[in-house]
Amino acid sequence: MHQVRTVFAALILCTLHVLALAQPDQPVQILELGPPATAPADTSGNVQFIGTATVLIRYQGFTILTDPNFLHKGDHVHLGYGLHAERLTNPALELAQLPPLDLVILSHIHEDHFDRVVQASLPRDVPIVSTQDAVAKLQALGFRKAISLATWEALELRRGQARLSVSAMPGQHGPGLANALLPSVMGSMLDFAALPGQPRYRMYISGDTLIHDAIRLIPHRYPDIDLALLHLGGTRILKMLKVTMDGKDGVQMLRIIAPARAIPIHFDDYDVFKSPLSDFEHEVHAAGLDGKIVYLKRGERYQFAPAAGPAPPE
Ligand SMILES: [Zn+2]
Repeated sequence: MHQVRTVFAALILCTLHVLALAQPDQPVQILELGPPATAPADTSGNVQFIGTATVLIRYQGFTILTDPNFLHKGDHVHLGYGLHAERLTNPALELAQLPPLDLVILSHIHEDHFDRVVQASLPRDVPIVSTQDAVAKLQALGFRKAISLATWEALELRRGQARLSVSAMPGQHGPGLANALLPSVMGSMLDFAALPGQPRYRMYISGDTLIHDAIRLIPHRYPDIDLALLHLGGTRILKMLKVTMDGKDGVQMLRIIAPARAIPIHFDDYDVFKSPLSDFEHEVHAAGLDGKIVYLKRGERYQFAPAAGPAPPE
């Protein structure tokens, strides 16, 4: 029985693989941006950790924000079905302190990723990419430039010679049948094309996903990932249902995706996060992968291309 199941799983994976490889990654939409509000100060790129899954990414004049959550310690979020979570930390920046944004990447529409303050205050003309059901909700909230991407579809941002492609990666929030009760989730792959003096850079953002078969397709289609941002936390709902990666899963993800560097995010901001960062650190150490990981405190930046290494906090 076990063998039959293994063969069956291998067949499904093969079929998925062929299907996935058969689809060319064509941008479904092109977004032409005007000149940046402020010229980039230097040619390196950086990732600034704001808190939970909220990260500011700056490179080649593009400014990207992920999963905006600007609630404070003691605030509560609703996760549907009467489930609540309490925030345990403060964000490193306030919403009002954000620089002008070229794009928001939203992995899914849970309130700990797009909170009520953001829903009320984020400018309605900021482009947002997300899943189809998240985009329907965003449009109902008045966000005029919400763009949905199906898995493997891409949006290309253009500004002068600079090109950034954002592609939707497979994600699955819940285990098995429970997944149907949770919002659809997308990971994302950011591909910054090379510019003179500014090398190409490939960044994977996991989104709130568990490890599932389709994740294994990602490195076939997107090898040589420079940086991965991993949503950890081992989030538990109803006390037993794991809906985000814990420390062990994070290391499994590292082995599958094989990025040059990885930054853990989304690990200690809510009381439903049950796997502390120390779980991941322990697993990383046991796997001999310490050299790959950059640990950022909230507010800190990781600077990449051409200079690499964490920059001091602001
Ligand atoms: Zn989350």
